[in-house]
Amino acid sequence: MILETTTVGSFPKPEYLTKSRFQFSKQQISREELLRLEQQATKEWVEFQEEIGIDILVDGEMYRGDMVTYFAENFKGFEISGLVRSYGNRYYRKPVAVAEIERLNPVTVEWYQFTQALTKKPVKGMLTGPYTIMDWSFDEFYPSRRDFCLRLAEVIREEARDLEAAGAQFIQIDEPAVSVRPEELDLAIEAMGIVTNGLKAKTLTHICYGNFEKIYPKMLEIPVDQIDLELSNAEYDLLDLFKRHPFTREIGLGVVDVHSHRLESKEEVKKRIRKAASLIPLKQIYVSPDCGLKTRSVEEAKAKLRVMMEATLEVREEFGSEGA
Ligand SMILES: [Zn+2]
Repeated sequence: MILETTTVGSFPKPEYLTKSRFQFSKQQISREELLRLEQQATKEWVEFQEEIGIDILVDGEMYRGDMVTYFAENFKGFEISGLVRSYGNRYYRKPVAVAEIERLNPVTVEWYQFTQALTKKPVKGMLTGPYTIMDWSFDEFYPSRRDFCLRLAEVIREEARDLEAAGAQFIQIDEPAVSVRPEELDLAIEAMGIVTNGLKAKTLTHICYGNFEKIYPKMLEIPVDQIDLELSNAEYDLLDLFKRHPFTREIGLGVVDVHSHRLESKEEVKKRIRKAASLIPLKQIYVSPDCGLKTRSVEEAKAKLRVMMEATLEVREEFGSEGA
């Protein structure tokens, strides 16, 4: 099959779950009750992904607040600060490294297993990359960013190996921070090499926040099988770079803007896929939204995913036997 479809990771939480997470933070409901609702929401998102025909599924991250803090909370050696402001009006609790980082138990494996048991389609194992965890944390323990980052790489590698052992055929290691500091791209590449070395599962990374001009084509040296990129909200200008330097890896092609309420038309999405197909061999293209959808409403997220699927199915038809 050509143009396989997937999503970047997070989906919006249904209202009952947002409410329960708040109640749990006030100790009004038990951990077990919250877990039951997280599982219910995960199940609903799996059913939706199957209903619209997505090929490679995600668990939707119903159990996570922030993608970095979630891992820090589950690793030894981190403390969590008070609220810090990030991009625009988002606030999050920033991790602080205060001792050697260690993973005492698997963090994501149970969620992977729970979700995979709900479907025959492959479910991706979802991790945050060492470079991004380092860059979005404070460090009061390691002598340098490099030491901190490479230690995190070893810890994330343990988690990746456990996901693979549990049966994950796809392991995604998100590195949204990689595009922000081009001068540290070598470090991000080295750290990812530690995580993915020896894995047999297909490995992916997701990068966003633009600035790709500054890290392309060197970003192709990140040792993963597939690089998933936020492309739609820059009107696909990046693709012109691929004329000069061919995109040699598989690409996860962001085709809907997750930061906008506006719903793309099917024609718009089809145009984006066709433009990518004119520059990258079809077999290398996977179709996905620009980024995680957790900031959209449940209805907006579902509408964007439906358009993505409808457009992809039609472009698949157009290419027909050519892509087979
Ligand atoms: Zn993203």
